[in-house]
Amino acid sequence: MMEEIANNVRRIRAEMERAARAAGRDPAEIQLLAATKMNDAQRVRAAVEAGVDCCGENRVQELLEKLPQGAYTGKPVHFIGHLQTNKVNKVVGRVDLIESVDREELLAAIDRAAARLGVTQRILLEVNIGAEESKSGFTPAGAVEMASRMAEFPHCRLEGLMAIPPISEEPGGNTKYFAQMRQLLVDIRAKKYDNVSMACLSMGMTDDFPDAIAQGSTLIRVGTAIFGARSYGPK
Ligand SMILES: *Cc1c(COP(=O)(O)O)cnc(C)c1O
Repeated sequence: MMEEIANNVRRIRAEMERAARAAGRDPAEIQLLAATKMNDAQRVRAAVEAGVDCCGENRVQELLEKLPQGAYTGKPVHFIGHLQTNKVNKVVGRVDLIESVDREELLAAIDRAAARLGVTQRILLEVNIGAEESKSGFTPAGAVEMASRMAEFPHCRLEGLMAIPPISEEPGGNTKYFAQMRQLLVDIRAKKYDNVSMACLSMGMTDDFPDAIAQGSTLIRVGTAIFGARSYGPK
């Protein structure tokens, strides 16, 4: 099991490097996040030991279980799933980056929780780039507006954008969405809003990360290619 995860990480690293070089980019600019949902602490440890840059959890429950088990020890952990406002207190201050800030109400709750703890919570805004009904996230215009108001949330720091584009019907099908995300990041960065850095562009998963890298991703989130297919049935 450990061996298989290590081999998978090695193969993904090689693919990341190929995609970066093909796009004229420095491979060191791109980080590999292990999307760890449904994988236990032991498997997460195997990915950490295999040299992923960080881990990402989707569910508060799994985060709280695996943290004390030392699943992520030595690497940053991100929150990447839908976050209910009433669970914000369990996440703020425990993760290095909340990637999935998808509405103003959530940002405000995170800011209040960070203020209580006396910390600055690093965040990304999630953009619903495919305008899908089934997904949450800001519209591109909404993300610009939110970024322009980050000074109102001084206990947060906006470091970039995250997107989960629609499931692609064909290879390369998400390239246009990745390109739009890249442009949005550049546009927001150019405004030099207070409390905004825009260094991070989180996009690309198992099926499309080389395309995301070609369009400027700095953080790919990979689950299946590291851990194998997730089993949703009984264990
Ligand atoms: C599960 C998940 C991923 C990884 O998906 P794979 O297709 O298994 O690589 C990436 N991002 C988010 C937000 C996820 O929930």
